Parts: sequence; structure tokens; C-alpha cells
Amino acid sequence: MTTKTNTAPAEQHESMFDAVLARLDVAAKIYGLSDDVANILRNPQKQVKVSIPVMMDNGKMQVFEGFRTVHSTILGPSKGGIRYAMDVCDDEVKALSAWMTFKCAVANLPYGGGKGGIKCNPREMSVGELERLTKAYTVAMADVFGVDRDIPAPDMGTSGREMAWLVDAYNKTHRGDFPGVTTGKPVGLGGSLGRDAATGRGVMISTLAALAKMKLDPKNVTAAVQGFGNVGSHAARLLNEQGIKICAIGDHTATLWNEKGIDIKAALDYVKANGNILKGFTGGVEIKPSELLTANVDVLVPAALQNVITEDVANNIKAKLIIEGANGPTTPEADPILQQKGVIVVPDILANGGGVTVSYFEWVQNKYGHYWTEAEVNTKHDASMNAAFENVWNNAEQYKTTMRIGAYIAALKKVELGIKAKGWY
Ligand code: GLU
Repeated sequence: MTTKTNTAPAEQHESMFDAVLARLDVAAKIYGLSDDVANILRNPQKQVKVSIPVMMDNGKMQVFEGFRTVHSTILGPSKGGIRYAMDVCDDEVKALSAWMTFKCAVANLPYGGGKGGIKCNPREMSVGELERLTKAYTVAMADVFGVDRDIPAPDMGTSGREMAWLVDAYNKTHRGDFPGVTTGKPVGLGGSLGRDAATGRGVMISTLAALAKMKLDPKNVTAAVQGFGNVGSHAARLLNEQGIKICAIGDHTATLWNEKGIDIKAALDYVKANGNILKGFTGGVEIKPSELLTANVDVLVPAALQNVITEDVANNIKAKLIIEGANGPTTPEADPILQQKGVIVVPDILANGGGVTVSYFEWVQNKYGHYWTEAEVNTKHDASMNAAFENVWNNAEQYKTTMRIGAYIAALKKVELGIKAKGWY
């Protein structure tokens, strides 16, 4: 196994997959993972790339690039979202699929990891174009997806709407009704109550668990939340309901600061009535997006993009606790800086696992044909997240390492067991 150090400042991880491997290598070394198992995990099981011609509203044909990577099916069918964004590429999908393998293992779900995406700008496309694109992508991936094979879900740029289109196209190609082929569906079409807020809820549970370890009372704690989409907005609301004062919020249109605490309910109402963007909300003063990350708060929740906490940002961070709502918000180069500063980082593969946890509950309900109340879903979710947190915390203590590496070790233990038990050719 080639072991890269993750400390050399000159070695920036341009590739997101390299950023995954950097952490994998550190965890593998501390834990003592066998080279054979490490080698398997360094290489995704399957990578599919398709060209998707779509007739646009202007009568012109546009060909989109679509991706799906199955990183591992050792612990169960591959699971992971589909992202619509302009930076979607082989490398990003590969990285995100590997994170799903580790995330599902940390959350103790019977799933492997996968991820998909289409290189497109959904903000500039009509609803009709998006529907045609989603259905054409599903038909192109008809042999990849499957209730017990590979199960997509929403991710950046997609939501329940796209999942309903996906199920429709899949049902038509497979001549039947297969709600469990995807999760994150609208409630009423096989979606689960509680799924929409689940990732934000997991962020809240992780925050409370970490604050308890730090012996901090949520009522005396301030936070900044980057991102006001599905993850950030629910996280801000739920953290606020626990008594945490949210002093900064931001999305791709505006970043706001209010020392007395932002009225999150008012922000949510504003965004709902304002085309889902924060621009124009007057509940705080406008600051630069970079200022949110280094704001004078106790808890920082990056819940938007990857690679935002760089070395530079890490050097200036004032928060004592970072809860990674986004996938990959911290670069490998920033990890040791945060560790040296004593900042506790609850890593993405633990902190944002609430979404896939309730995806699993949705899939179970689809198989079972019986649906749970929101309270039942939330109770099971909270118990599952708390157990995952405790397991990661214990691994971090046992191996005298960070929570991130503790989470990787917790995942590696499970995946290694599966690989060794199943054997290979
Ligand atoms: N896209 C989400 C994630 O990155 C959810 C995945 C899922 O529910 O399968 O965790």
C-alpha cells in the first residue's frame, strides 16, 4: 500500500478521491488494516458513464454526461444519492461513492456505497427538461439500479421530485411497481415521514452528543451554519429548537450575521416565499461567505459544499466544534491543523448519516408495505445516530486519534470483516 502523508502543505489533494484515500491510508495504518483489504477499498467495484441526449425546450438536442459508481457491495446493495451539478465528474462521484461505503458502515446499515450524478446546472433548466433528463438517465442506468442491487436517493441539486420521476421510469422499464428502487421519495409515493429533515436531524443529534462530551449546555452555545438547503435549513431549525443560538447562516446568494441570534423561523418563511434563496432576508447584517467559517461561534456546521475548510480557514477557525453536514467540507490538509488546535470535528461519514439512515427505514417500509409514524421514525433515527456517535467516539479514544479517523476505523472494521468472511477468488 502506498501511504501518503496528509500533512505536507505542498501536496494539495486536487482530486476528491485522493482526499478519501488520504484518510483511508491514515486510518488503515493506525488500525493495521491488511494491504489486501485496503487494496480492494482503494478501487471502486464498478464505474458507469453514460451519454444522455435530451431534447431541450428550445428544440435543440443537448447531450449530458451521467455517472454512477458502485464503490462496494460487501455489506449489502450499494446506496447513495444522485447529484445534479456542473462539477460532477468521475473523480467526484468515485469519492462520494467511497464515502457512502464508510458512512453506511458507520451507521450500521446493511448497505454498501454508491453515488451518481449528472453534469448539468439544474437552476438553469426547466421542470420539463429536468424530468426528461432524469427519466433518460434512469433508463440508461436500468441495469445498474435495483431494489436489492443499487439504490439511489437525492443529493445536491435533486429532491423527492426527481426520485418520483426515477421510480416512474424504472417501473416502466421493469414492468412493475418498485418503490424501493430509490429512497427520498415524496410521502404518499412510498416516501418515509421524517426523511426530508433526517440529515439535518442527524446533524442536531451529533451536535448534542458532542456537546455532552464537551460538558457544554446547548443553551449557552452559539453556532454558524453554512448552507440553507435541505441539510442546513433543517439543521439550523432543529439546533435552534434545542436552545442553540444561530448567529450566522448563508446560502449561495447571501451570508448573514446577527450576534443576538438569527430568527430561523423567519428565515425559513422568507426562503419559502422567495424562490428558496436567502438574498434579501433582513434578519442579520451581510458578511462575506468566508467570514461565516471563521466567525466567533462555538459550533460550525458546514452544510453546503466540499473543500471549504482549507488550511487557511482552519488556521483562523474559532469554533471549538465542527459538525460536517456536507460531504467532504474539510480538506485533508486542514485535518492536522484542526487537531492541533483541539477543535473536535464530527466527520461527514458520521454527522450527515441521518439521511441515509432514514433512507434505510424508507426502504424497509417499502419492502414491508407498512408505514411508520414520524415519531417512530425519529425515535429509531435518534437511537441509531447516538449509537453510531458512541461507537466512533470509543474508536477515536481507543486508537488515540481524531473522530474522523475513529469513524474510518469503525467502518474499516466492519467492511474488513465482511470482505474476509465472504472471501475472494
Ligand atoms: N445523498 C445523501 C448522502 O450523501 C443520502 C444518501 C441516501 O440516502 O442514500 O448521504
